[in-house]
Amino acid sequence: MCSSDPTEISTPSSAPPAFPIPADVLAHVVDVHCHPTDSPISQDVMSSLPIRICAMATRGSDQALVADLARAHPSKVVPCFGYHPWFTHWIAVRPAESRETHYRALFLPEAAPKAQNIEAFERLLPFLPEPTPLADMLAELESHLLEFPDAMLGEVGLDRACRVPCAPPAPPPYVLHDTRRDLSPFTIPLEHQLAVLEAQIDLAVRLRRNVSFHSVKSQQATVELLDRLKTRHGDAWCAISIDMHSCGLSAQTWKDIERKHSNVFLSLSTVINSRSPNHRDLIRECSPNRLMVESDYNDAAHLTSQTWDIIKVVAEAKGWPIEDHWEADLSEDQWGVVRRLENNFQLFQRGGHAPIRKKDRRKLLLEDWESDDESGPRRA
Ligand SMILES: [Zn+2]
Repeated sequence: MCSSDPTEISTPSSAPPAFPIPADVLAHVVDVHCHPTDSPISQDVMSSLPIRICAMATRGSDQALVADLARAHPSKVVPCFGYHPWFTHWIAVRPAESRETHYRALFLPEAAPKAQNIEAFERLLPFLPEPTPLADMLAELESHLLEFPDAMLGEVGLDRACRVPCAPPAPPPYVLHDTRRDLSPFTIPLEHQLAVLEAQIDLAVRLRRNVSFHSVKSQQATVELLDRLKTRHGDAWCAISIDMHSCGLSAQTWKDIERKHSNVFLSLSTVINSRSPNHRDLIRECSPNRLMVESDYNDAAHLTSQTWDIIKVVAEAKGWPIEDHWEADLSEDQWGVVRRLENNFQLFQRGGHAPIRKKDRRKLLLEDWESDDESGPRRA
């Protein structure tokens, strides 16, 4: 869920398409970011799912659904709990006198708001639920994370493009209730998004849990946040891994993040990243051991085919062969794309990354400068 438009979702379908890839290869594929609980769950589809998945929660009403899915399919589902940036306005960071005061402080902070904004706010207000206190949200999040030792924090992040819809919160499964909705002119203030996000990430660091991170039109804020978290948490920051999921980062920004943070990975999907021609550059620039794949899809029936599509793109961009059967022991130079991506997911899950010291950074910058020099100047 990385689109800038929360109404942009597909309709669910029941049967997965026939799939020609051998099951012994698919058993090593991990879809590191998807939303199967957005659609009605078919037990047949889940029982025959040939890959492993990381299933995201996004708001109050789907945390328990993700937990149920993981309880029913523990060998296939890594549950991920957290609040997506699109829904952070429903969280109250500090106590407010009333529902209206909470939302007014977010959307009409000016001393003298424009008449058209007041009008838009009055139209939006009836659709907004009673806000949940941040402490309550964190307590529920902590209990879900503690129930599942391998659970991650996700989907959380920053989004400066998303506008708040004039519609009541949809009940799950969301794909059945969503329509082309009327959007208000309001976005959720970055400062509020950061307060909700940082509280969730601080919890993830305390419980040593990995994070699936959404970043849309927030490149600078994301880079600054990662730097701030590294300083705040020190070595505990490197104990966890962060997956920048389906992000529209430039290849240069990604390289800068990789250089500063040993614990940040990148996962791409065809559904989001193929909209941008730069996704192949991003794959090429990404270190071979930081790359993962995902579907970001909202229907379990299509997770395998969507994940396989991006695996083919990665294989082509990186020049890695695609396995047509599974061999037990291979030396690293013989690894195919599925084995490399599976190995990266294991590195991601294990965490405990070596911190990058200032001295190493200087060395990396020098190497980068020298390689730029050989191929001619690249940066404007
Ligand atoms: Zn998502």
